[in-house]
Amino acid sequence: MPRPVLSLVLPVFNEEDVIPELRTRLEAFLKDLDVASEVVFVDDGSSDRSCELLKVACAEDARFRLVSFSRNFGHQRAITAGVDFARGEAVVVMDADLQDPPGVVLEMVEKWREGYDVVYGRRRHREGETFFKLVTAKIFYRVFAAMIPIEVPLDTGDFRLMSRRVVLTLRGLRETHRFVRGLVAWLGFKQTAVLYDRPGRFAGETKYPLRKMLRFAVDGITSFSILPLRFAAYLGVFISIAAIGYAAWAVYAKYVRHDAVQGWTALVVLVALLASVQLLMIGVLGEYIGRIYEEVKRRPLYVVKEKVNVEADDDA
Ligand code: UDP
Ligand code: MG
Repeated sequence: MPRPVLSLVLPVFNEEDVIPELRTRLEAFLKDLDVASEVVFVDDGSSDRSCELLKVACAEDARFRLVSFSRNFGHQRAITAGVDFARGEAVVVMDADLQDPPGVVLEMVEKWREGYDVVYGRRRHREGETFFKLVTAKIFYRVFAAMIPIEVPLDTGDFRLMSRRVVLTLRGLRETHRFVRGLVAWLGFKQTAVLYDRPGRFAGETKYPLRKMLRFAVDGITSFSILPLRFAAYLGVFISIAAIGYAAWAVYAKYVRHDAVQGWTALVVLVALLASVQLLMIGVLGEYIGRIYEEVKRRPLYVVKEKVNVEADDDA
């Protein structure tokens, strides 16, 4: 079968209330679209009728495809599977709850045709979210951006278009704790944004309760930064300086001012020195553990965008 131009990837977890409307809107969207396309649904172990409804959709329309998980593996892995199976020249990841409007996909495709490799949807306005979610998301993305060395777009989720070469490199990143939006930012290439107003979810409830949101935030920070590990070393240096100062004062109090209680100086000096040595050594351990962690992720050392007058060195 020839490669479709556009693949839409939609992770689905217990979305039976949304699927009929989703289908209607996708079909209308595909009809207006003048290019060959496919829709890859990933059923992330739904326990409601989502999977059956999607199967019916696939039986009735060959452009619909379905990958169904054996259990719930989580949103980020569902996206990963979708991207693994999508065959399009451009792949768009979007939520199944109609919070990512198909109309915006047209703008993304336009940008892609202009030569961009990644076009992410940037939320200008969000409807139907709790105040708490809006504020925590705003804070999280700013803290995240400040902590990590790569440039990440603010106020974006996983709604984005990726060119095939980005998809192929993304498939090579197999780390377990996945923060896909960060991985795509890490890949580089020519990236741009389209602004859109994010509507509320069409039906049903969010599949991201606070517990999952926190986990996700921790995954995001720890997969791109070893700053928290390094913190022990920073604290160690700070406490060492304070401890040595205090130990010096204890010695001064004993031998110059002669007002120290018997045994106090030795105790203060010992505790201060031991505490600072311990923290510093934890910092050193943290540094090595951080390096082990970076190595086991096995990310490629670099990503090549194009080659000029260069061929693969086959003899090597
Ligand atoms: N989702 C999923 N697996 C999960 C949680 C969510 O595949 O474990 C899907 C869900 O069906 C939806 C998308 O991921 O298509 C985003 O989830 P949701 O809309 O609940 O998140 P929110 O928009 O509230 O952040
Ligand atoms: Mg949603």
